[in-house]
Amino acid sequence: MKVLVINCGSSSLKYQLIDSKTEEVLAKGLCERIGIDGSMITHQPAGGEKKTEEIPMPDHTEAVKLVIERLTDEKVGVIASLDEIGAVGHRIVHGGESFAGSVVIDENVLNAIKECSDLAPLHNPANLIGIDSCRKIMPNVPMVAVFDTAFHQTMPKKAYLYGLPYEYYEKYKVRRYGFHGTSHDFVSKRAAEILGKDRKDLRIIVCHMGNGASVSAVKYGESVDTSMGLTPLEGLIMGTRSGDLDPAIIGFLAEKENLTASEVIDICNKKSGIYGMTGISSDFRDLLKAIQEGNEQAKVVRDAYAYRVGKYIGAYTAAMGGVDVIVFTAGIGENNSMIRGCIGEYMEFLGTKIDEEKNKVAGEEAIISTDDSKVTVMVVPTNEELAIARETVRLTE
Ligand code: ADP
Repeated sequence: MKVLVINCGSSSLKYQLIDSKTEEVLAKGLCERIGIDGSMITHQPAGGEKKTEEIPMPDHTEAVKLVIERLTDEKVGVIASLDEIGAVGHRIVHGGESFAGSVVIDENVLNAIKECSDLAPLHNPANLIGIDSCRKIMPNVPMVAVFDTAFHQTMPKKAYLYGLPYEYYEKYKVRRYGFHGTSHDFVSKRAAEILGKDRKDLRIIVCHMGNGASVSAVKYGESVDTSMGLTPLEGLIMGTRSGDLDPAIIGFLAEKENLTASEVIDICNKKSGIYGMTGISSDFRDLLKAIQEGNEQAKVVRDAYAYRVGKYIGAYTAAMGGVDVIVFTAGIGENNSMIRGCIGEYMEFLGTKIDEEKNKVAGEEAIISTDDSKVTVMVVPTNEELAIARETVRLTE
């Protein structure tokens, strides 16, 4: 079956067409600036050239139309007609407490996703628009929702409750949900597979370090804790997000800078993290470059980043009563040996040793700990689109 995977944002739409038999990406692309002047579509067939064109896309339905046109185009297309698309998998950010797994989309599911919009006002409405647009153009194709939060629904209450008046949980469902669940699930499963073991026998810590970043504790196959919370703002220092903060800072800064609470939170989401701390960039490659050029502040930020990840590894080791495997994934985790080395220092107390030579790996599966290391440390590239395609096939075939 050919599965179209859709990741829809408020003004963007990422897509991949995946052959579920071979798990090959047949084509992928991105629509940007939807509903804004200067809309662009970038399309790339497997083995072909990546091409970006400026084409007006007043709404997401128009974007989906263009995607289908590209996929079926005589020159850059990879399928003869729309009929070849067997199913569509949608990445949905927030499933609240309603979804502990992926589901086939129907009216009830749409309503439940709508109800979770309160918890993710920037993401869920955009995800719904993506579903709606695809349904308009492919009314008879089955569609599946795959939630970023679902994998973490196994967290026990002691891990997901905040120390707030309990009525806020009861009234508004204020609690830890966690995100990147598709990635934490995929990567922990794959790590066990590579080791030739059953995930049910392992305590795994997954460090997903991309633009957004989160750590999870996967105990005997289930997520028991994760660093992101009600929203993706909590936890690690990220590209532009602050991660953990004393909540009193929000009020303090609001008063000092004459801002509203939501304006301060906007700063915490978009102008903090590596970007805000360095004043250079949110991109880790720029941070590395600055370190090489002798920028002292960049070094401090790298150390703060590694320290925060190290603290979470310590915490989750305690939470699981030990750890067997620590896995690095996503853009930074897969590619940046320097930061893996820095984080490694915080694992030494566990009898964990990273092998400097093996740690040079970038973007591929590898064990990077020494043979005598008490904990196995690995690099496992994540693939959220493939995970979504697999879920879509599982539920529709
Ligand atoms: P997203 O959360 O947007 O999916 P990614 O997983 O692509 O993010 O990660 C983006 C981060 O990964 C950026 O900080 C980028 O600098 C870093 N990164 C990507 N490729 C490399 C590389 N080859 N070397 C070092 N860092 C990299």
